[in-house]
Amino acid sequence: MSDRTDQKLDNCPLCRSHRLIKLFTLKKEQFVRCEDCGLVHINPKPNSKVVLSTYQSGYSHSYEKKADKKIKRAVRYVKRLSKKIKNTGRWLDVGCSAGFVVKASQDEGFESHGIDIDPDGLDYAKNKLNLTNVSQTTIENTAFEDASFDIISAYDVIEHVENLHTFTAQLKALLAPDGLIDLITPNLNHWTVPSDLKRWKEIKPSEHLYYFNKRNLQNLLRRHNLKIIQTRFTLKATLKVLVTHE
Ligand SMILES: [Zn+2]
Repeated sequence: MSDRTDQKLDNCPLCRSHRLIKLFTLKKEQFVRCEDCGLVHINPKPNSKVVLSTYQSGYSHSYEKKADKKIKRAVRYVKRLSKKIKNTGRWLDVGCSAGFVVKASQDEGFESHGIDIDPDGLDYAKNKLNLTNVSQTTIENTAFEDASFDIISAYDVIEHVENLHTFTAQLKALLAPDGLIDLITPNLNHWTVPSDLKRWKEIKPSEHLYYFNKRNLQNLLRRHNLKIIQTRFTLKATLKVLVTHE
């Protein structure tokens, strides 16, 4: 049973509302839904050291095992996106993991950069894919010039970030005037999501902090003068949206 509370919880990380409904606890973490914007999230937010530790337990090893499949997918994503801009340009892959999107976009003619906080993935990117332009940092801490990227991809990243607003503000700041952001995150409103939410495989304590639907993702983006211009159909419970300046 869910019950409503406004005690001991932080305000909604998206809309700052205090109207939160407790859903369930998993591994001692409280999952709640915001009554105002509908964002499901872990509240209070886990300690960032705990969040970080979820990456240091071989998070990207699973990528390495599936390298062939991952590189093919990256090539497909890159080709689809590069058709949407006139020329190649600068590409930033946020949460680049083992570097497949960086590699694929570089091969397509982009000046590509990748950032991630996971050292194992970056080792693979540097040593196996021979990438020199990947670094261990977060988008909030990068020294890239404003408005300097034609494409920014962030695949399965936004559900992990420390602060939704600083993350989104930085996407906005780094994006070139006609640039595109390609975002992928789990989709809370997809028809395959079980009604008993804690059975959903994307529910991951300490790891996935926020669970969006299209509406509240749009709400977040709008607050930073960004807008969704395309949503891709997908059989999996993921939101795949293309975003640009408002
Ligand atoms: Zn909210």
